[in-house]
Order: sequence, then C-alpha cells, then structure tokens
Amino acid sequence: MAADHLDERDRSDALVLFGITGDLAYKKLFPALHDLERDQDLDFPVIGVARSDWTLDDLRERAEASMREEVDDLDEDAMRTVIDRLEYVQGDYNHPDTFARLNELLQDCSKPLAYLAIPPSLFDEVIEGLETIGANQRGGGVVVEKPFGRDLTSARELDDLLQRTFPEELIYRIDHFLGKETVLDVMLFRLANPVLDTLLHRHHVDHLQITMAEDFGIEGRGGFYDTVGAMRDVVQNHLLQVMALILADPPVSDDPEALRDEKSKVLRALRPIQPDEMVRGQYVGYHDVDQVDPESTTETFVSLVANVETWRWSDVPIHIRAGKAMDETRTEIAVVFKRPPLSLYRGPDMTEPPPNTLRFRIKPGERIDLGIQLKKPGERIETEPVLMTYEWDDRLARHTEAYARLLGDALSGDRTLFARSDSVLAAWEAVQPLLDDPGPVHPYEPGEAGPAEAKRVAPPGGWLPPLTD
Ligand code: NDP
Repeated sequence: MAADHLDERDRSDALVLFGITGDLAYKKLFPALHDLERDQDLDFPVIGVARSDWTLDDLRERAEASMREEVDDLDEDAMRTVIDRLEYVQGDYNHPDTFARLNELLQDCSKPLAYLAIPPSLFDEVIEGLETIGANQRGGGVVVEKPFGRDLTSARELDDLLQRTFPEELIYRIDHFLGKETVLDVMLFRLANPVLDTLLHRHHVDHLQITMAEDFGIEGRGGFYDTVGAMRDVVQNHLLQVMALILADPPVSDDPEALRDEKSKVLRALRPIQPDEMVRGQYVGYHDVDQVDPESTTETFVSLVANVETWRWSDVPIHIRAGKAMDETRTEIAVVFKRPPLSLYRGPDMTEPPPNTLRFRIKPGERIDLGIQLKKPGERIETEPVLMTYEWDDRLARHTEAYARLLGDALSGDRTLFARSDSVLAAWEAVQPLLDDPGPVHPYEPGEAGPAEAKRVAPPGGWLPPLTD
C-alpha cells in the first residue's frame, strides 16, 4: 500500500526473523527481502533466529539458494546486499541466552520489527523472550503468520497473548492474500469508479460467488493439511477477508483504521453460518497421501452460503467454495447482478440473456471483467454476452509480490492491509457453528467440481463457468 502518509521515522531499523531456517522464509521471505532491497533499499540488518546449528555462511548459502530458485527477475546486486545484511543467532527459543545474544545485536537499533515465521505453538516462548529484552517497548511491532488460531477459543487465547505484550496497532497479522494486486484493486476499483460502486448494493446484486479452486491435491503437505482442512486453511481467513473487502462501505479517510473499521463492520454483521448451509467434501485418494490419517474426515472441499446482515447487503446470498483436486484452478470473486424486471426481447426460440457480472480474477492471471449484453448483429433482436476485460501485465504482477508489499508495509508501520483482531474474531464467530457440527464429508473424484451434494448450497443457476483467455 502506498505509505505516503507515514513519516520516515515510522520505519523499522532492523528485522528479526524468527524461523529463518524454515520453509516460509525460504519460499517467501528471502524473495520478499530481495524485492524490497531492489525497490526500496532496506539499509538495516536482518537478524535470523532459529535452532539449526548453522554458521552465518550456511545461512547465507540458504538465502542465496532461495532467491535463485524463487525470484523470477533476480537482481544480483539486490541479492548480494540482502545476503550481506544477514546476521544469525543460533539458539532455542526456550533458552534466555538466545534472547540475550539477540539483544546484543540489537544494541544500535531503536525500532526492530519481529517476524514470527514459526509454528503458533512457539509464540509463547518467543513473545516472552522479546519482552525480557524489552523489544516490545521499542515501537517496531510484531508480524504473525496465519493461522490466527484454529477456532474461536484458541484465536482469543492467541489475541490475549499478543495483546499482553504488544499494542494492537503494532500487531501485523499477515494474510498474504490481502497483498495481492487484484485483491488490492477490489477496493481501489470501487472507490475510483463510483458509477460502478453504486451498483454494489442489494437493490442491484442477485448474489455473490467466491471461488478458490485448485486442480491439484495436497501431496507433500499432508501432515499440515490434515490438521486444518479447507475451512481453516482458506475460508475463515482469505475468503472471508476478501468478502469483507467487496462488501465494505468506502472508508471515510485514508487512515489505516478507516478501512479496517469498515471491513470489521461487515464481518461482525456476518450471520453465524449454520451446518445446513455448508457441504463438505473429500477427494477420493486423499487417505493415500503421505502423513494423512487413513480415517481422516478432514475436508478438501467446502461450499457454503453466507449472509451479511447490513442495510446494504441483507438477503443477498454469498456463495463461497474452496477445494483441492478440483476440475480447474481458479480464484475469483464474482458479483452477479439482478436480471431485468421484464424480458421484453424474448421470442419463442430465444433464450433469456445471462445476468450482468463483475468478476475479479486473482488466479490464473489477474484480471477484471464486466459482463454485459449487446445486440447480436443481424436481423433478429437478440443479445450476446460481451466482456469488458482489464488484464494485468505479467511483469507488473511479478513486481508487486504480496509478501514484499506486506513486509514493506509492516516495516513502514502501515497496518492498512493487515487483519485486525476484531475482524479475525468475528470471522471465527461466524464459522464456529460449522466447526462444532461439521457434518459428513462427501467423496468426490479428483477432477470433479466437488461432491454432487454441494448443489444444495450452490448459487441459483449454478457456478459461473471459468472465463476463457
Ligand atoms: P517450519 O517448520 O518450516 O519452520 C519453523 C522454524 O521455527 C524453523 O526455522 C525452526 O528452526 C524454528 N524453530 C522451531 N522450533 C524452535 C525452537 N524451539 N527454537 C528455535 N527455533 C525453532 O515452518 P514454516 O516456515 O512452514 O511455517 C512458519 C509459520 O508460517 C507457521 O505458523 C505456518 O503456519 C506459517 N505459514 C507457512 C507457510 C508456508 O508456505 N510454509 C504459508 C503460510 C503460513 P530449525 O529448523 O532451525 O530448528
């Protein structure tokens, strides 16, 4: 997000990366540091803290391997500079000496940002350790990775733990989905095009469709996935946060809290979703995946219908689905508008024109489409659907990787794109009835659009077909 309103003094002057030897650091954080160095010049130390008995050279080799593998447009100078900025504190988070040595490296830093790229079970020790060296008092704050709890109770406990040590405005709950170019454009598109935003209202909208479908399974991630499932992995966080962006009222100012206030209102108005409003599925063959419990009832597919009870959105069904091993890979938010009140141009052999749609596609390829109807050339009075499409340039999309954007924002003290405590808890409250009473998982074959039972909660007229390129 543009952080123009932030003072340079708000910037952190050190990044402390807990979990620097882990998977997330390798796949996302070193590449994000590369992009930030290339675009902004970091100009501060990056101090990794982890248990592996590595030398600084080992860590530097790992960072180089990560950037060479994961960055599309590698800038050798930026990569070298990131590598040169690295420091390493080897130690267990349970050991006070680890934090004492970290503190020595932080002597010249006034505002370190701590990034917890570690399993939530370790948050307690690390937050306590940061407190003992006073790192929480220096105004840099803390970045935490999803999952923010695994149900309402654990989310509240996590919140209590974080807020005992850091003020809410310095807790950056990172949901990388919210840093994606198309997701950011959901709100900007609305604010910059009031003529279209006016249409986002129960008077005009029939329903919404939010999809996150993947045509591959969970191979290689069985141990992790089997403990979460589709609801906890993507629906409670990514998809409900995106839903809040499209349904939120425009913020009243550019203050970071203004947008977060509006999103929070939407999530607090989300009526708790009931078990009969959801269908779960599991693809055939899931039990054979390494580290999956052979008796597992974890869902690899979920479809539900939600309602947001605000003046603007009441009675507009919001259909949400997410799944693995499906018939396609697509992440999309689609607004389906109401049909004309009277179909004047409908002859005996003519079909009713499809409704207007506004579709934000996040994957594959980021684009926005407005679906309208025009007269089909010829003698007959007949319409044909036409798309007005804006497609992002690939190069631009690579330039604005979500992790780089969000890490840069946290370093600058800009919290606009991070999930706030009340939003996170409201989203858990809405799905808690489904966690309490999840019902059966229905099997589906890999390559299908989920189980047949999911039709029960599907949009009227079915899910929109994928857009052709
Ligand atoms: P990993 O298991 O790969 O890494 C865990 C890190 O924590 C390692 O650096 C490990 O150090 C360190 N660590 C663990 N125990 C200790 C200890 N007692 N003392 C010191 N260091 C310790 O996890 P991920 O990187 O996959 O995930 C990190 C977080 O990010 C999790 O919360 C996860 O849910 C979240 N996340 C991960 C994503 C991913 O793509 N991986 C995506 C989105 C979120 P060492 O190995 O040296 O022992």
